[in-house]
Amino acid sequence: EMRMALTRMLSCCLIILFQSTLVVAEHTNDKLTPLTLNAISAARKLGDDVSCLVAGTGCAKVVEEVSKVLGVKKVLVAQHDAYRGLLPEELTPLILASQKQFQFTHICAGASAFGKNLLPRVAAKLDVAPLSDIIEIKSPDTFVRTIYAGNALSTVKCNDPVKVFTVRATSFEAAPVEGGSATKEEVTSSPVGVSEWIEQNLTKSDRPELTSAKVVVSGGRGLKSGDNFKLLYDLADKLNAAVGASRAAVDAGFVPNDLQVGQTGKIVAPELYIAVGISGAIQHLAGMKDSKTIVAINKDPEAPIFQVADYGLVADLFKAIPEMTEALKK
Ligand SMILES: Cc1cc2nc3c(=O)[nH]c(=O)nc-3n(C[C@H](O)[C@H](O)[C@H](O)COP(=O)(O)OP(=O)(O)OC[C@H]3O[C@@H](n4cnc5c(N)ncnc54)[C@H](O)[C@@H]3O)c2cc1C
Repeated sequence: EMRMALTRMLSCCLIILFQSTLVVAEHTNDKLTPLTLNAISAARKLGDDVSCLVAGTGCAKVVEEVSKVLGVKKVLVAQHDAYRGLLPEELTPLILASQKQFQFTHICAGASAFGKNLLPRVAAKLDVAPLSDIIEIKSPDTFVRTIYAGNALSTVKCNDPVKVFTVRATSFEAAPVEGGSATKEEVTSSPVGVSEWIEQNLTKSDRPELTSAKVVVSGGRGLKSGDNFKLLYDLADKLNAAVGASRAAVDAGFVPNDLQVGQTGKIVAPELYIAVGISGAIQHLAGMKDSKTIVAINKDPEAPIFQVADYGLVADLFKAIPEMTEALKK
């Protein structure tokens, strides 16, 4: 029995020793997308052997950026026209080739549109089950994720030889961008050529990006029209905030759907979240309830948003918001 216990202990230690994680970097060729730093922090919880794959075209700046991130040991660099637009069809064979070469036990990325698009394909090709949007790592094979719009936590043990997962950025601190000195190594794969990236048109905005903003001002159906969102934009500009919205506001056509916060929108956890004319349906709360301080402005004192709010103002938003903006001008 003693020998069995010892063997178990030894194999446990060996498992921890031989963890190695690949983080797939999301970037724009010029800049690393911040949530990659959160994914790197998650990877570090699995052990010290963290590599980061930077694939792209002319992405030398990002390679430099990543090599300085604390905790990254090696940067795998892949530059080719085929990686333009970071298409999953082209990145997957590259990740599979890297996995074969370096025997990674874990492969992860942030749970953004990029990660959600890529990693299920990688998992399918490896014939393993992907784990999406994890919020905690209990051990190298046990992860926590939310279910039922964040109303329950599910702890999942993964028996697959390679664990493939996406990381909810708001649940892990960003890794420090200085202090690391990773080695660089080139990796390649042959282009597949089944799809081609043509162009992308991004909405230009001077405001901070919704998922990384420190302050978010969100509007709901209570705003009544798209034009009235100007009230929120004016307030947001005073607070250097991003503007978000409930699904009802998006469905009514007040604002485009990239502003949607919630279960089927973006997940945010800013220092300050101001919910204006939003009732607080569970599907909305799923996207913002981890915010540090929540302020709710609603004319209905019974609105469920007040149950999660740190500060609640029962008032007509058409009066309260201009007053707040005015007060901030002083
Ligand atoms: C599968 C599924 C997924 C979903 N995903 C999401 C999601 O990702 N994000 C999301 O937000 N929703 C989502 N929903 C929808 C969600 O259930 C709600 O319908 C939605 O969040 C309601 O939006 P709202 O709070 O803006 O509108 P309402 O519920 O209509 O609330 C409007 C609020 O404005 C207040 N108000 C009105 N006039 C004023 C005024 N003059 N001054 C102050 N307050 C005022 C009212 O008192 C009310 O509380 C989802 C639903 C389903 C079924």
